Amino acid sequence: MGGDGQVLDAGRDSRFFQPIQRKAMRLQQKCCQAEGCDMPPEWCDAHHLDPWAAGGKTNLKDGALLCPHHHRLAHNAAFIHERLPDGTIRFTRRP
Ligand SMILES: [Zn+2]
Repeated sequence: MGGDGQVLDAGRDSRFFQPIQRKAMRLQQKCCQAEGCDMPPEWCDAHHLDPWAAGGKTNLKDGALLCPHHHRLAHNAAFIHERLPDGTIRFTRRP
């Protein structure tokens, strides 16, 4: 629960990140989470690191802010992405 009683982790209840979750994410993550990208959070989308269709949850720790460019890459089958130890996301073209 958030400080004002709003749910921050929706689990499987909601497919989409809620406004309160996006707000919390923007406070935690200062910019696009792709490696080397500094696009401000206002321009970013909330992305499920574990795809919703594969059982991913709509929880804060499972979400990452990505700018429109990197969000497209995250859904582009020609690219794979992995989370680095520092939390940033590295995109590499599929071999
Ligand atoms: Zn980006």
